[in-house]
Amino acid sequence: MKHKMAIVGFGGMAGWHYNEIQTIEGLEIAGIWDIREERRVYAAEEKGLHVYSGLEDLLADSETDLVLIATPNDVHKPVAIAAMEAGKNVVSEKPVTLCSQDLREMIETSDRTGRFLTVHQNRRWDEDFLTVKKILEEGKLGEVFRVESRVHGSRGIPGDWRQEKEHGGGMILDWGVHLLDQLLQLFSDVPVRSVYGVETHVTNQLVDDGFYAEIAFENGVTALVEVGTSNFVSLPRWYVLGADGTAVVEDWELHGKIVRATGVNEKDVTPVITAAGLTKTMAPRRDDSIFTEELPKVTSDVREFYINVMAVLEGREKSRIQLPEVMRVMKLMEAIHQSAETGEIVRETI
Ligand code: NAD
Repeated sequence: MKHKMAIVGFGGMAGWHYNEIQTIEGLEIAGIWDIREERRVYAAEEKGLHVYSGLEDLLADSETDLVLIATPNDVHKPVAIAAMEAGKNVVSEKPVTLCSQDLREMIETSDRTGRFLTVHQNRRWDEDFLTVKKILEEGKLGEVFRVESRVHGSRGIPGDWRQEKEHGGGMILDWGVHLLDQLLQLFSDVPVRSVYGVETHVTNQLVDDGFYAEIAFENGVTALVEVGTSNFVSLPRWYVLGADGTAVVEDWELHGKIVRATGVNEKDVTPVITAAGLTKTMAPRRDDSIFTEELPKVTSDVREFYINVMAVLEGREKSRIQLPEVMRVMKLMEAIHQSAETGEIVRETI
């Protein structure tokens, strides 16, 4: 069975979907609609795609069963609702929309029309994330008590709609949505009990150009999620602490290591001598008390996202991206924003 997908918004990310779809059997692009003429001309002339005369024309195409929304963030909700009302299934780019109330309306429309709604949370297929997931699943570090997840750039936020609040700009909605989704995937059964968030405004006053959030889970695990866009030196992508070891994933190329205790008791620790005194507590481990391991090898194929979408439409599989998970991320983003605005810890079960 061949699925035909129409694309609304043919900018940078739609180009990525276009390339990926060329490699996926059973899925083809029926055409596109973009409000900008230059993008319509590009789609037609460079990609040979059919260009609809408008959103209504696109939604009226009885040949398509799927609509991809790859517009700025504020446009996702109205287009998704219109598409579901027109009988189409919907893949929305992330963030699905700007707030939980909007998402509730989208889910209600999906329930009422019986149309499938999903979100392109493609970073669930990132290998750095899957490496950390595997380390946790294998229990390599003993009882994990801390997870830190960061992405750092140094060029501020892109100079497009991402700088504008009304379009859903800012880094919480742009990168935060990925990192928070990944974190909640690691602790899918554990409620969040408190959130403290701080937003940065180094290069942009209108929206957050970065943020960090301290998130406490009910099982005692704490997590730090940080997005920075004025960081000329990047900290590791992941830093995970357990009672018996530490894992670090330095970057997207998966440099990193796991250091674990051997169980050898260190009787004679050589203290570190600093200008102001000496310390045994902070001295390096003796070599025989630890061993260093390579990170486990994980490979992934992000095309599974669309393969799953098609399987859902054919009634063969459950969606890999469940809407209650998407709602949970949305609530976490709202809590971070609320905490950043008030300077208070948000104590809410999420
Ligand atoms: P972009 O600005 O390059 O493209 C957006 C396109 O939408 C533009 O061509 C614009 O003309 C068009 N557009 C705007 N309003 C429209 C409307 N009402 N109807 C039709 N077209 C409209 O932005 P982008 O970087 O491609 O981002 C698009 C979406 O993809 C955003 O939601 C973004 O968060 C998401 N995105 C996701 C990832 C990911 O890894 N999942 C990466 C980048 C962007």
